[in-house]
Amino acid sequence: MPGREGAATPPSIDNPVGATIGVVAESLPAESRVAATPTTVPHLIGLGYRVHVESDAGIKAGFADDAYAAAGAIVVSTSEAWASEIVLKVDAPTDDEIDRLRPGAVLVGLLGPAHDAHLVDKLADSRITALAIDATPHISPAPSKNALSPVADLTGYRAVIEAAREFGRFFTGQLTAAATASPVKVLVAGSGTAGLAAIGAASSLGAIVRATDPRPETADQVRSLGGQYLPVVADEDPMHCTDGSAGDTSDAHNRRAAEIYSQQAREVDLIITTALVPGRLAPRLITAADVASMKSGSIIVDMATAHGGNVEGSVADQVVRTANGVTILGYTDLAGRSPAQASQLYATNLVRLAELVTPNKDGQWTLDLDDIVQRGITIARDGERLWPAPPAQAGTDPPPEPTAPAPAEKPWSAGAARRLVAAGIAVLFLVASPAPDPIAQHFIVLVLATVTISHVIGRMHHRKRAPGSR
Ligand code: NAD
Repeated sequence: MPGREGAATPPSIDNPVGATIGVVAESLPAESRVAATPTTVPHLIGLGYRVHVESDAGIKAGFADDAYAAAGAIVVSTSEAWASEIVLKVDAPTDDEIDRLRPGAVLVGLLGPAHDAHLVDKLADSRITALAIDATPHISPAPSKNALSPVADLTGYRAVIEAAREFGRFFTGQLTAAATASPVKVLVAGSGTAGLAAIGAASSLGAIVRATDPRPETADQVRSLGGQYLPVVADEDPMHCTDGSAGDTSDAHNRRAAEIYSQQAREVDLIITTALVPGRLAPRLITAADVASMKSGSIIVDMATAHGGNVEGSVADQVVRTANGVTILGYTDLAGRSPAQASQLYATNLVRLAELVTPNKDGQWTLDLDDIVQRGITIARDGERLWPAPPAQAGTDPPPEPTAPAPAEKPWSAGAARRLVAAGIAVLFLVASPAPDPIAQHFIVLVLATVTISHVIGRMHHRKRAPGSR
């Protein structure tokens, strides 16, 4: 865990100097994650905070109260945890839960502001400072602070595991005396964090993996994970958001993409869809007709059902079986299916956020809205609704240093070449004239051949180097 240097008086378990962080239990029955673990608690304390953990908050993820207490947290009641100055959570709170927060409290969680205007209004009206981790802008320095990246990695992997479990066949091909089987064909639609993880997992299991994404820059990543990138050539430059993700794609792009999906649906055994533009509804990629064209026994995992779904007919948190024998998994809890690991990843990223807003390790949660990441995730503050944030500017990486062109080697000038040939003939004459005839002839042939070959090789060398040479 990276730490910061420079605290004047390092806070400790015995010397908590700052605000109280409350870790509350999740109320959704399907949610098994928790926002802090016994591993991350000491890091929060090291930043100067007291940590209050609601009793049994970590039980579904396998973290008992005793483990939190041993890590330095104080195990408290539900109301005490919610009364903390800073409340860490996984899912968005209910209205009742918001009412438990003290005015001016900081709430951190996967709040989904793009899909819940009421929640944003309610948080603002309650004078809560609300930080939506799922709104972290996709800019280059953000991923290390983006709680979703490692979780999405996990969920992409988990989507493949769930598909494999339902599919019931080996992914890899088999060639035995008894039978042969081709490798399973998998299409991954959307090659962002979860998509790439799915591509890596499926190809490492031996599947043939194809993948799409409107961002052509993902092609190399797809290939590096063993997948085949399917470009949508109708539109070389689909609209890009300033935050680096794909924006609304053009009609021409969508038409060509639809053709690709229709063709792939007929060929592949599994489809995993992960397409999303942050803050919008998921694009509809796979139609009911595509699903109807798939082979019986095929599996679709629609990872975007929480945002409306990429697949026609998918239902959030449901397994849909179609008339032609296709199974569509709409799980929204893929992360929660590995609750201890998912909690650890999420909680670790909350520690990184805490480090960002507590540079002096003094237990004071200090937001800097000039910081692009902090502004991006702040959806309400001091009674003000701050969602959506102005678009983050991509390209925060310094532009690559222009590499100095290699000094061009000049080809010989005509004059220099003529002088060289004249000198060569003179030397040849001087050397060859006193020699007996056969030796002189051989010598002349040898020298002429050497000069000719050197000249040809020299010209080829210059052709290769000269810019724009044909
Ligand atoms: P991401 O932003 O990293 O990736 C989304 C990708 O979709 C991007 O690469 C983007 O370019 C691509 N995309 C956008 N429009 C597209 C289009 N029209 N066609 C094809 N691709 C398109 O997001 P992520 O973190 O990888 O998450 C992917 C999805 O998985 C999201 O919907 C997210 O909510 C979901 N998710 C689901 C679960 C679950 O349990 N089901 C858990 C975590 C994340």
